[in-house]
Amino acid sequence: MTKSGYILSLDQGTTSCRAILFDREGAIIHTAQQEFRQIFPEPGWVEHDADEIWQVQLQVMKQVAAQVPAGSIAAIGITNQRETTVVWDRVTGKPLHNAIVWQCRRTSALCHTLKEQGLEPMIKQKTGLVLDPYFSGTKLKWLLDTFPHIREKADKGEALFGTIDSWLIWNLTEGKVHATDVSNASRTMLLNIHTLQWDEDILVKFGIPAAMLPEVRPSSGLYGHTALLDPQIPVPIAGAAGDQQAALFGQGCFREGMAKNTYGTGCFILNNTGDKPVLSKNGLLTTVAWQIGDRVDYALEGSVFIAGAVIQWLRDGLGLIGDAAETEALARSVDDTEGVYFVPAFAGLGTPYWEPDARGMITGLTRASGKAHLVRAALEAIAYQSRDVLEVMQQETGVRLSELRVDGGAVRNEFLMQFQADMMSVSVVRPKVTESTALGAAFLAGLAVGFWSGLSELEQLKGLDRVFQPEQGEAYSEAKYAGWRRALSYQLSRRE
Ligand code: ADP
Repeated sequence: MTKSGYILSLDQGTTSCRAILFDREGAIIHTAQQEFRQIFPEPGWVEHDADEIWQVQLQVMKQVAAQVPAGSIAAIGITNQRETTVVWDRVTGKPLHNAIVWQCRRTSALCHTLKEQGLEPMIKQKTGLVLDPYFSGTKLKWLLDTFPHIREKADKGEALFGTIDSWLIWNLTEGKVHATDVSNASRTMLLNIHTLQWDEDILVKFGIPAAMLPEVRPSSGLYGHTALLDPQIPVPIAGAAGDQQAALFGQGCFREGMAKNTYGTGCFILNNTGDKPVLSKNGLLTTVAWQIGDRVDYALEGSVFIAGAVIQWLRDGLGLIGDAAETEALARSVDDTEGVYFVPAFAGLGTPYWEPDARGMITGLTRASGKAHLVRAALEAIAYQSRDVLEVMQQETGVRLSELRVDGGAVRNEFLMQFQADMMSVSVVRPKVTESTALGAAFLAGLAVGFWSGLSELEQLKGLDRVFQPEQGEAYSEAKYAGWRRALSYQLSRRE
């Protein structure tokens, strides 16, 4: 049991790898971050080079670890972009294909076929998920069905599958451990979330050999050690969780009814539902939040695929802005979007619509529309999409949220935070440490090695930065939101 030193959190996101050192107060001591390549081989397809991810992650990890004395890192916690699918060679340790990223829509037709075969109700009941290209299962099936050499290796037990957590654990332990945590496993569409085992029926239906799957483990507990920081002092890898579940944990949403929204590339709202999985009728996902010892917590989740990414597109796709931070002043430079709505369905629509073929759209343009209106409409769209999720969540749980805890890169935008509070009529609570994802992974690892004593100690560590209260009247919010629903209905009506 170790109480001194630091916890090193590895936060492997969709666009960058981060390494963050936390002290016992949950404060950030050092941080390093580096972006890596996004690969778009075809419209709607997204890949990453898994080797590059590992190299970049290793580099930022070493950079941060070099800031403190060897031996002062009590444990490593891992958190990662979820669902992204890696298959690698057990012998060489090399990826057999680029990683297929969660945003990738290449299995849209495959999902459609599986739906036609009537598989969706069974999959939903067992995995808590909808049959959408988002999850790893069809991505893995696609790799096995498309490349005979991958299938051949998989049949011989020479190809391994993992989400990014498994890939990092494998590399950190130099090929000794092939494991995943239960929260990541619950996003593959291959895990039975009631038994917490890989589901044999689904594996057979998808033609996936069980031998290629990682061992499913609790989110807090010893996975193995890494000798890559210092061969003399192996550091325990003691926690892992998918980024959104880690953020829920890092936000201190330990009890039933507590919810958070993360504003990163996408938006992800998770609501802790306690130790029972709640199955949704309206497109929310049921997911494992974490497992600590024998205790398993579940969450209902709404996933919005494009949130901060719409701002990246304004910057990189249109060249309309130079930096994401400019958007706040631009949005405030006009009083309203003057009827402009931006539906950023670049990668289809997630919760609650699940329309993989929907695409982006801007409506209501006039000669008076300018850059500021467009930027403001893009920011507003982030808030509208989050409200779409919250509406369904409140309907299904029968509980009105009193507060929403927020984190992620885009919460720096105070226009967005205020607009969100107005659109949802809830208090939007921004913590001091907005790196909740990394903090959650650190908490999970720290609990496992006795760095922190338990959940009550962690609750004491949370500090508030700012609370955004609703300021606009309901009439304004409802009128704006109704306009969003109208814009969206054009997109949904073109599905046939
Ligand atoms: P991820 O972990 O998904 O890579 P982050 O939590 O790092 O994402 O957040 C980055 C996202 O936040 C980017 O998509 C970026 O466009 C957006 N973002 C960053 N700063 C702002 C800002 N001031 N206003 C709006 N969006 C922002």
